[in-house]
Amino acid sequence: MADEITSADLDAWLRRSAAELSAHADELTALDSAIGDADHGTNMARGFKAVLDKLDAAPAGDAPTVQALLKSVGMTLISKVGGASGSLYGTLFLDMGKAAPASTSISGADFAAVVAAGVAGVVGRGHAVVGDKTMIDALEPAVAALTDAAASGASAAEAAQAAADAVTIGRDSTVPLVARKGRASYLGERSAGHLDPGAASSAILVQALADTLAGDAAGEGGDAA
Ligand SMILES: [Mg+2]
Repeated sequence: MADEITSADLDAWLRRSAAELSAHADELTALDSAIGDADHGTNMARGFKAVLDKLDAAPAGDAPTVQALLKSVGMTLISKVGGASGSLYGTLFLDMGKAAPASTSISGADFAAVVAAGVAGVVGRGHAVVGDKTMIDALEPAVAALTDAAASGASAAEAAQAAADAVTIGRDSTVPLVARKGRASYLGERSAGHLDPGAASSAILVQALADTLAGDAAGEGGDAA
């Protein structure tokens, strides 16, 4: 039986994501300097620092609903991150929030549907498909793996790990591709041979989810332990 993902789990995921994006900011910016405008690492680190500040400013002991938490992250990213990545990642979290319940926990299967709704929002905004060398090359396979695992009765941690495995493969699949969306597409054939920075940051987020839920299963998981 799949266990529940709580607002506290998501809070921990967001905090881990902020730390990982900060740690990898230079790497993301280096990727973006090869095929973009060299701001992706600083943009993502700044956006998630703002998310962190908002989490810290929330009243202690008053757990937000999954819906409120995810919507808040989306609004913060839209207002604090410039350019296409702010709009796309903001939409990801905002649309996840819109699909999420106004409760403080969610089943693994429902969470997979929430993530799928967020990724559909990104597709609706950016119009990228798999193969365009964007974050969608990482996120679509991650959502598919998350959904399949959750539907087959895997725990939330196992489903997130399946998503992390898929996101890594999806991220790396962008290297040989010629960009068909975003600034990298201006480079045409010269965009091939580089990892897409948006796929790389998406992989960081999904890996952070897997690492967060794995930590819960080992320790503070409650009923699952
Ligand atoms: Mg950029």
